[in-house]
Amino acid sequence: MKIFSLLATTCLILFVAPATRAASSGSAFYGDAPDEHHPWAVHDPNRPQPKVVTPGTFSTPEQPGQPPSDAIVLFDGSDLSKWESAKDGGSPKWLIKDGVMQVAPSSGDLRTKDKFGDCQLHIEWAAPKEVKGDSQGRGNSGIFLMGRVEIQVLDSYNNLTYADGHAASIYSVNPPMANALRPPGEFQVYDIVFRRPIYKDGQPVDPGHVTVFVNGVLAQDHTELEGGTGHMGRAKPGPFPEKGPLQLQDHGNPMRFRNIWYRELPARAVEGGTDGQPLTTEATMAKRKEIAAAIRQDAETHANGANAMPQLLRLMESLEYEKDEPTVQKVEQMSGQYLQALKQLAQGSPDQIKAKKDEAKRLGSAFSFLARFKILPADFAPKVEIEQFIKEQGWDKKS
Ligand code: MG
Repeated sequence: MKIFSLLATTCLILFVAPATRAASSGSAFYGDAPDEHHPWAVHDPNRPQPKVVTPGTFSTPEQPGQPPSDAIVLFDGSDLSKWESAKDGGSPKWLIKDGVMQVAPSSGDLRTKDKFGDCQLHIEWAAPKEVKGDSQGRGNSGIFLMGRVEIQVLDSYNNLTYADGHAASIYSVNPPMANALRPPGEFQVYDIVFRRPIYKDGQPVDPGHVTVFVNGVLAQDHTELEGGTGHMGRAKPGPFPEKGPLQLQDHGNPMRFRNIWYRELPARAVEGGTDGQPLTTEATMAKRKEIAAAIRQDAETHANGANAMPQLLRLMESLEYEKDEPTVQKVEQMSGQYLQALKQLAQGSPDQIKAKKDEAKRLGSAFSFLARFKILPADFAPKVEIEQFIKEQGWDKKS
């Protein structure tokens, strides 16, 4: 009797751990189980938490904002140390004045020393206040993602030009959905999401996409790429490298830039990422195996002679991801022993058995969850027995 009294007490204490986790990040045996395209359950407590990013601040016409905490800053107004001449890799000739960089006409394009692929890019630019020229001759520059895809920079404010050459067009490919420019002289804000084309064995698996916001107004909505961009020629799809520099165009106009930063984006499903799109069955099963192994390993840390329940539940949880036969056997054995102890306690100490109600019901609902998703058979012996026991105790009735 003494052992069971100790058991009951230990159980209550040990149950703090899973309960705390449940309160903070969700519960096991709750949402729909993993399937062949989703390695995690719905509301899965094992799914990694998003990384914490301290947001920056928005710019005002006078003042650039602060970038978010994980941004890689390419230009903060102080120097051009992150840039080089695109012609020869030499020192950039563009000017820096009052916290902005300015195209020195005829000195050539600038490119970053950094090379990067998929990104969120923030960049602000201003055309000269004094309007000179028209169409493509007025306030022209360009932002070349990976040095290949030009997001047009142009003073398109009351300035007619061909639609696929407007500000925020994917130059020569797709016009922007809206012309949301401010008047010349004022800073324009571009927020760009870029996903490069991906090829495998020479075959396209993702054409790549660009999303552009101009001053907060959507201009490109996940627009599919057709390869790189160019002047007069039709773009042609083709493989991209993994990384490339960001390039800014010298089109002969004294355009100004400020507050340039980017954030690297996580890998897409087609290149081994696990979020954003349903995964292939192969990738899903590989990930599920990995999650199951980690949970089984964690279950070992819950091993406790006096109270098997935390370890047992964790092992049962691992079965959601991988129906590992030795684990099924261990679950069967541990739950069998637990039931035997419960039955003895019920016979010997009717008072103490009441304290086991929540725990026993939790085990019962875990078994019924696993049976519902066909992870364990509906007639799995410990499941049937725990359900029977719960009924006998009258714990299945709403109190
Ligand atoms: Mg241009």
